[in-house]
Amino acid sequence: MNAEIVAVGTELLLGQIANTNGAYLAQKLAEIGVNVYYQTVVGDNPDRLESVLKTAEKRSDLILTIGGLGPTEDDLTKQIVAHHLGEPLVIDNDAKAKIDQYGAKLSNNLKQALKIQNAISLTNHNGFAVGDLYLNQHGTSYVLLPGPPSECLMMIDRELMPQLKKLGNQNRVFKSRVLRFAGIGESQLVTDIADLIDHQDNPTIAPYAKLAEVTLRVTASAADEAAADALIQKTVDKILARDGRYFYGYGDDNSLAKVVVNQLIDRQLSVTAAESLTAGEFQSTIGSVPGVSAVFPGGFVTYANEAKQRLLEIPAEVIASHGVVSEATAIWMAKQAKLKMKTDIAVSFTGVAGPDELEDQPAGTVWIGIAYRDEDPQAYLYHFTNGRQQIRARSVLTGLDLIRQ
Ligand code: ATP
Ligand code: MG
Repeated sequence: MNAEIVAVGTELLLGQIANTNGAYLAQKLAEIGVNVYYQTVVGDNPDRLESVLKTAEKRSDLILTIGGLGPTEDDLTKQIVAHHLGEPLVIDNDAKAKIDQYGAKLSNNLKQALKIQNAISLTNHNGFAVGDLYLNQHGTSYVLLPGPPSECLMMIDRELMPQLKKLGNQNRVFKSRVLRFAGIGESQLVTDIADLIDHQDNPTIAPYAKLAEVTLRVTASAADEAAADALIQKTVDKILARDGRYFYGYGDDNSLAKVVVNQLIDRQLSVTAAESLTAGEFQSTIGSVPGVSAVFPGGFVTYANEAKQRLLEIPAEVIASHGVVSEATAIWMAKQAKLKMKTDIAVSFTGVAGPDELEDQPAGTVWIGIAYRDEDPQAYLYHFTNGRQQIRARSVLTGLDLIRQ
């Protein structure tokens, strides 16, 4: 099933508010294996909304509108969709009863009790406007959802999702699993599994990239949970056979910091850091994981050269002869941090966060040093892009990835 989300509202169009309902809906649809191919935003304008519907109909089997179900003049979505379908609007008795309870002074709210004839009503648990699920067996199906997030999200969870699961796939269950990768870009990962993505059907594979991390959501539908799991596992095995070395964990609410810190706790390896361009962000990131105190005694934020010399006792001539953004400085920072904090591991960060260059090196040039027990410390060179905050954040994630076991 190919879906298209149409968010209606001039304030969305003009960027005064963000389309958070659309984002939520798209995620929920992905979880049950419905592909969202288009999202459209249109203002509160009858002609333009109608033309959006005409376009959507040509390319999507399920069109979901958000907003414009309210009591006021500019709330037109239901009227336009009904007109477009050639269906009359009729009163939904349950919705009317609820409005009646609130008294005659809200009589203009009666408009919100209207539903498209032959549609399944979607109950509004947080407001008056009734939602619609209009199933057109031979063509496109329509869903109408209210705009206020408290109403919209509740209707998606409690009304729409159960209906879609029931209808589209009788007696079928959906399951999805999220795979998380670090140290590989989205384009590389997608290229590595291009054939799997091209031929995807069941399971579907949806990539999503965020800073230095990439996730894949693998969703399958089957007769029961075990069968769905088996389908997912087969695809996961294929993906991991190709890019397993970049895989670090499952789950939506997982993070690289969590996985790495828990590995360190399990292996009883303590860690410290000496941070220049990241200015403590690495330590703050691991600090967000509960239980980190077992392996993290503290560390260093040494932004200026003088601080590197005074706190870490890096010889002045190292920085003078190699530069601060250099392999030698990164190695010295890691080595000295480990020595002073008496840990098993130390990570160091020195680089150019930008926007200006430093020592003739462009923004994004980053050296990350690792000192591990008695082994010779090493440093690795990276070239990150996309501005100061991304450069710093990607440095932190890459540092975590380097100490991942
Ligand atoms: P109302 O009864 O409030 O008029 P409605 O169903 O007519 O509800 P809209 O008038 O389109 O919905 O929007 C109501 C409010 O809901 C907007 O002012 C906005 O704050 C919020 N809203 C609407 N659409 C979205 C969206 N797609 N994402 C997030 N918030 C939204
Ligand atoms: Mg409104």
